[in-house]
Amino acid sequence: MESDIAQAARIVAESRHLVAFTGAGISAESGIPTYRGAGGMWSKYDPARFASIDAFLEDPSYYWSFFKEERYPVLKAARPNPGHEALARLERSGRLRSVITQNIDGLQQMAGSKNVIELHGNTRTIACLKCGRTYSMDEIHAQLASRAIPECRGCDGLLKTTVVMFGENLPAAALREAFEQAAACDVMLCVGSSLVVHPAAAVPGAALDGGARLIIVNQDPTPLDHRAVVALKGKAGDILPRLAA
Ligand SMILES: [Zn+2]
Repeated sequence: MESDIAQAARIVAESRHLVAFTGAGISAESGIPTYRGAGGMWSKYDPARFASIDAFLEDPSYYWSFFKEERYPVLKAARPNPGHEALARLERSGRLRSVITQNIDGLQQMAGSKNVIELHGNTRTIACLKCGRTYSMDEIHAQLASRAIPECRGCDGLLKTTVVMFGENLPAAALREAFEQAAACDVMLCVGSSLVVHPAAAVPGAALDGGARLIIVNQDPTPLDHRAVVALKGKAGDILPRLAA
């Protein structure tokens, strides 16, 4: 393990175009529950309902109840961990070009990263499906003190989180940018992703196809471990600071 970390740190230090790809594992270390894995489920609400566009359009109040009771308090309390901070440091030092993320919590930006490509949208911004007006999480949470479904101040449209729900397409611009970065990078550092949720998980595959070397940091095995130059098992918060040192 020690020599694997040293090898990965050397590859990071020598890279010309380093890109990171992050998933739920790095956020879990900041207390954000995941959909997958033991003990990973949200406690009271069913992801098949709160994360599905069809279910949302049928009964928006279920999502907003979940948002008020679980999503908002968890996100307000969450702070970046040493893994997020290490990626932000790598960017500040000029070594890391961008972070492509499957996460929606904004912790990477809170840690100081500037070039973050959010493949699944984000939960900080809520938008009107009719007029496009946007609202912050705090504004919407305040509205939910007195109503079950928040309202747009500009029209009678339905408000929705900009998180990509099951049944929705990934944002085209973010997806295009992610694949451009995958094609351009010489090293991709995959952190905390099971690398099974498509189409996002196709991004590291595209990096490999473009000739990039893959470093994987994850608690569990992934389907791409055998194609990585180094696959490190463990926490992002423990390993990334040593890769960025
Ligand atoms: Zn509106």
